[in-house]
Amino acid sequence: MNELELLVSGLLKAAENPIETIKREVEITGREAAGCFLGFGPEELIDAAGFLPVGIWGEEREIEKAKQYYPAFFCAPIQRVLEQGMRGEYDGLLKAMVMPVYCDALRSAGQNFKTAVPYIPVISVVFPANRKLDSGKRFLAGEYRNAGRQLSEIGEEKITEEKLKESIAVYNRYRQAMRVFAEEASLHPELMTPYRRHMIIKAACFMDKRRYTEKIIHLTDLMRQREKKAWEGKNVILTGIFLESELLLKKMESLKLTVVSDFLLQESLQFQTDVREGEDLFYSLAGRFGDMSFCPVALDPEKTRIGRLCSEAKEKQAGIIVCIPSFCDPEEYDYPLLKREFERQGIHHICLELNTSSASSQAETLLQTFAEL
Ligand code: SF4
Repeated sequence: MNELELLVSGLLKAAENPIETIKREVEITGREAAGCFLGFGPEELIDAAGFLPVGIWGEEREIEKAKQYYPAFFCAPIQRVLEQGMRGEYDGLLKAMVMPVYCDALRSAGQNFKTAVPYIPVISVVFPANRKLDSGKRFLAGEYRNAGRQLSEIGEEKITEEKLKESIAVYNRYRQAMRVFAEEASLHPELMTPYRRHMIIKAACFMDKRRYTEKIIHLTDLMRQREKKAWEGKNVILTGIFLESELLLKKMESLKLTVVSDFLLQESLQFQTDVREGEDLFYSLAGRFGDMSFCPVALDPEKTRIGRLCSEAKEKQAGIIVCIPSFCDPEEYDYPLLKREFERQGIHHICLELNTSSASSQAETLLQTFAEL
């Protein structure tokens, strides 16, 4: 195995074994881990409080215990995380869980998690709909201050201005490195298959961002030195919440579909927007949520994502796959608007609804048809 393959295989392993990876990172960094549910965080706050921030999206599991709290069709990531928590998978691993509140499903998720998984303290952060207004940012900065206080109480480490500044710099560096990586990855479809691309991005959830960023920068450099090969596959752009299904990602690989870019909450939207430094760092962190674009869950009355997807699909000669976890109200509301515009502009697209336990064979068939057309 050459250096590039070794690096790739290490990152794949990290993403495929989240619990082992978190344990290893805890050991290396000497920090205890705190969870950050669905990537809204902000992880900078957790990092500045002396914890190892861990992105929690839920792994593919057969849902049994979480059925006591939710009907089978409920939002997949919420059910998966509750299931893992109730099975005791995070016991002794996560010292706290930061839970965002920004959609209807998440309103009850924190309360259910508190009751069903009593061994992890839950810290709720309410995200405002009016995220671009000064009042919305001030409200969110207040929520972050509260969350920071609770993290400091649990970890007994105060968040100072210097520490928060350092954490913001670490995360901005990570985000910049990821944007460059994603761009370069799209030029090497035979190497960065949909599954590999997804897993390499996902590995960031479980690793210390300082260590992870160094690996990504090195990987991008190695990719740059690699000869670009001719490729006959088809280009796709992903949008929605996530495409967390080994089965479907590998199916895409076998159909020679290449992810040229994505607007997924779990992937590029995690590193699309940096924090702009200001006098009040909590306000700066809140400003990042205000600055986010093309996100399915952050309110955007203009629906700018639709126009951006259409222009990028034409520019990159790509089809679009909309990925919706079952019962995801923000994305379900947007989909009719997306569909209408894609059809009007003649853009090839499909919608994959991802149910809780595993991707359905219907989704596989849809992918097959999508690739053949
Ligand atoms: S936005 Fe969708 S996927 Fe995310 S928690 Fe809400 S319902 Fe679930």
